[in-house]
Amino acid sequence: KAFADFGLAEPILRAVTEMGYTEPTPIQAQAIPLVLQGRDVMGAAQTGTGKTAGFALPILQLLLPKASSSASPLRHPVRALIIAPTRELADQIHVNVAAYAKHSQLRSAVVFGGVDIKPQIAAVRQGVEVLVGTPGRLLDHVEQKTVNLSQVEIFVMDEADRMLDMGFLPDIQRIINLLPKKRQNLMFSATFSGDIRKLAESFLQNPVSVEV
Ligand code: AMP
Repeated sequence: KAFADFGLAEPILRAVTEMGYTEPTPIQAQAIPLVLQGRDVMGAAQTGTGKTAGFALPILQLLLPKASSSASPLRHPVRALIIAPTRELADQIHVNVAAYAKHSQLRSAVVFGGVDIKPQIAAVRQGVEVLVGTPGRLLDHVEQKTVNLSQVEIFVMDEADRMLDMGFLPDIQRIINLLPKKRQNLMFSATFSGDIRKLAESFLQNPVSVEV
């Protein structure tokens, strides 16, 4: 299986080639077609397996047809939301998404706590289709009305087990309640305890499991 076989658009394939990726990793080979089909996915995968591209590439593909070149935030509602447990992970996801999106009109931004919120507000005001964030700071932006989640089409929870370990469950539940009912959900976790399964059942719809 090659990246070209997934039916990804040329701007995305070009970015993948520029990243030096020659073939999909096992999690990518499994996840990319399922995400493109619109399925909810529960992925058992550690960092280092290529899971970020496994969800980010098909998400960009799904968002592409409606991408506009307008700089108006109204024309750039957040359409994909990715939450992650730490600043480092959120930033790494954003950097990857921005690299995969660089030949498209799609934009990405990242929000996390522990730093001044103002530059983040300026970044999201530009209008971004893909927003990556840690749960607490994301909710701060929602409260300040600098981020609106009412147009989210795809929701990704990365490293769900670490988010629960860090006590983010109440924040995660608040975030899910802000999303449209009709949406696609992806959840990744290295481990699957009872609590993780319960959380998965609470928001994934008829998910397909992928494992590497
Ligand atoms: P991740 O598990 O998503 O954190 O990715 C781990 C590392 O693998 C990152 O540095 C990616 O840029 C890289 N990577 C992801 N997919 C591929 C691929 N298909 N071929 C080579 N490297 C990759």
